[in-house]
Amino acid sequence: MTANLLEFDLEGLAVFCESLGEKRFRATQLFRWIHQRGMSNFDDMSDLAKVMREKLKVHAHVAALPILSQQFSKDGTIKWLFDVGAGDAVETVFIPEDDRGTLCVSSQAGCAVGCRFCSTGHQGFSRNLTTAEILAQLWFAEHFLRQHLGQSERVISNVVMMGMGEPLQNYSALIPALKAMLDDHGYGLSRRRVTVSTSGVVPMMTRLSQDCPVALAVSLHAPNNALRDNLVPLNRKYPLDELLEECTLYLNKAPRDFITFEYCMLKGVNDQRAHAQELVTLIRKHAGHGLRCKFNLIPFNPFKESGLLRSDDATVEEFASVLIQAGFVTTIRKTRGDDIDAACGQLAGDVMDRTGVANRIAQQRAVPIQWTDRKIS
Ligand code: SAH
Ligand code: SF4
Repeated sequence: MTANLLEFDLEGLAVFCESLGEKRFRATQLFRWIHQRGMSNFDDMSDLAKVMREKLKVHAHVAALPILSQQFSKDGTIKWLFDVGAGDAVETVFIPEDDRGTLCVSSQAGCAVGCRFCSTGHQGFSRNLTTAEILAQLWFAEHFLRQHLGQSERVISNVVMMGMGEPLQNYSALIPALKAMLDDHGYGLSRRRVTVSTSGVVPMMTRLSQDCPVALAVSLHAPNNALRDNLVPLNRKYPLDELLEECTLYLNKAPRDFITFEYCMLKGVNDQRAHAQELVTLIRKHAGHGLRCKFNLIPFNPFKESGLLRSDDATVEEFASVLIQAGFVTTIRKTRGDDIDAACGQLAGDVMDRTGVANRIAQQRAVPIQWTDRKIS
């Protein structure tokens, strides 16, 4: 089998070119053809020597993922379902805004974390995506959109690793993909505009700060361990204080001077005034050690198996006002693309559960969610 060149960051491509007996700098030209120009046919890469093109034709290819479906929302959001083989499919979403174009990228077929409110989690886990499968989402979307919108300039200005999967549980494939996104010869995105969202894989957050410090979003969803254990099972391994200490350390390397905390608003579960107050107390404790953050409240996007409901708008507003009065910048995420099930947490793709996560979650679902043990006023 020949190598899919989407598997490499620039350094990896340089090593590959050397293995073909080509100079490292040829890799830069090749990388630019692929990522900046969207080319996959080596014969079209006119400044590469014919000999090199012939070698590439024998040993390499540039392959997009087969598209199973493409849906256009009335608000401009586009969702693709890509086939990654063996019955697995993953989703990618493009979200246009006035001043930016954001691509929401998947990192795994399914997810093993199994958060209670997440439709990806409910599907179970099949496998990690390769670097090529992660990058192919951006490669395809960027060049498709340029054509579709008749634009020669870059369309995607921001990437968020908020599609299917827990990116920090697929670390070795994630890093080269991030590097290609940041590379000036690749997509040239600034570190501030590439965001990794994590449910809190603490040791990998440390490594990310060393290897490729991009913007960080952390899925918090609860102000105490009892509730978070229930909503985000990974909390049992990396509880809140440990997670927030790591967030504080991450800031030393981060391209932005804050961490974004995502908080999915679940009716009657984590959305009461008392929860907001408890959250303020928790974050203030860590702010004393240097934690800086913003909150992004995400109204829950329901899916039928969850048994959960979206908080009322008024409740979300009130929750936000408690945080704002305490001095925290807080935004409420606008729902985009919900007419095509492209909103946060609705990305289910189609995944063969190979680990029994779906079963485990079904069992969890039978257990009523623990409310905070204190009385909610
Ligand atoms: N695994 C990573 C990134 C993917 S999920 C993480 O958990 O951070 C991206 C975001 O969507 C997370 O904040 C997640 O908690 C949120 N989310 C998941 N399911 C959701 C749902 N049904 N409604 C709203 N947000 C959801
Ligand atoms: Fe996985 Fe993130 Fe969904 Fe949790 S919210 S199950 S970590 S994709």
